[in-house]
Amino acid sequence: MEYRQLGETGLRISILGFGASPLGNAFRETDPVEGKAAVHLAVERGINFFDVSPYYGLTLAETRLGEALEGRREKVVLTTKCGRYGADEFDFSAARITAGLEDSLKRLRTDYVDLLQAHDVEFGDVQQVVEETVPAMRKLQEQGKARYIGITGYSLKNLMEIAGQVKVDSILSYCRYNLLITDMEAKLVPFAKKRGVGVINASPLHMGIITERGAPEWHPAPQAVRDAGQRVVAVCKARGVDASEVALRFCLDQPDVASTLVGLSSRGHVERNLKCLEMRNDPELLAEIAKAVAPVKDLTWPSGRAENYG
Ligand code: NAD
Repeated sequence: MEYRQLGETGLRISILGFGASPLGNAFRETDPVEGKAAVHLAVERGINFFDVSPYYGLTLAETRLGEALEGRREKVVLTTKCGRYGADEFDFSAARITAGLEDSLKRLRTDYVDLLQAHDVEFGDVQQVVEETVPAMRKLQEQGKARYIGITGYSLKNLMEIAGQVKVDSILSYCRYNLLITDMEAKLVPFAKKRGVGVINASPLHMGIITERGAPEWHPAPQAVRDAGQRVVAVCKARGVDASEVALRFCLDQPDVASTLVGLSSRGHVERNLKCLEMRNDPELLAEIAKAVAPVKDLTWPSGRAENYG
């Protein structure tokens, strides 16, 4: 396993990270026994970065991850989130951030998280996040309940607007760097590098779009983006390779991303994704994939408050 430093934090995290939203049945019902075995296998094989949120499965993912990490806590870099507690439930107030972390720590069976992230900040008010949320998170850091703090979201514009006004240790963006779209590389990476902020890339499979199974019902992407994903799957199939593996490898090749978080809940996917650490992508195949995606001019969708889109 290869490890990279997350920005200027002292955290060294595996380039392949364990996204725990599927443990909370984010995509479909998952087997808790298998999910626990997947966590154990991942730790055994050197994956040390685990990402969860109270939002995933409305606390179920945290509860399952906490149980699975019992006895293994010190081997991992654990991150959870605050501010998002349901599909439409957001509260970025200092009081909720503080109380929310206490609840998360109980479910995760630990006294601290290595990274606490404000979740999907484009659904909040920029000034509140800058003046209230982040300072509340810094207080939790001073109390030793979070070693570092960061922000997450879909809108690169919003993430940079916030991090331009208040220092954060890391930024996580999702569905902005993979086989379908790469704008994170041109926009967020130089911004973060200049400020010593760590970058985490989530959803290398575009939240399930670049898989044989395809996207879940609730996926926010327009049909044209789902179709592009299925064209990528078909191009790879014709070449006898698995699109999800090509997609993950593509993300791992971005050197300025500290870790790529892929959603996991089975040992089979842990094994297959670990295999990607050893493989190389064929540049000709990547060119063919780019051609299959090219007809879609705008691969983004609106997320959060209208003033934060982008
Ligand atoms: P993803 O792109 O990682 O896709 C996950 C889906 O792909 C799941 O259904 C999983 O079972 C499946 N999968 C995994 N490996 C596979 C393989 N080898 N072959 C075929 N299918 C495979 O999307 P994601 O789970 O949304 O993102 C990864 C993680 O990133 C999340 O679990 C979460 O921890 C984090 N994340 C955070 C935010 C945020 O903070 N705003 C947003 C999105 C994701």
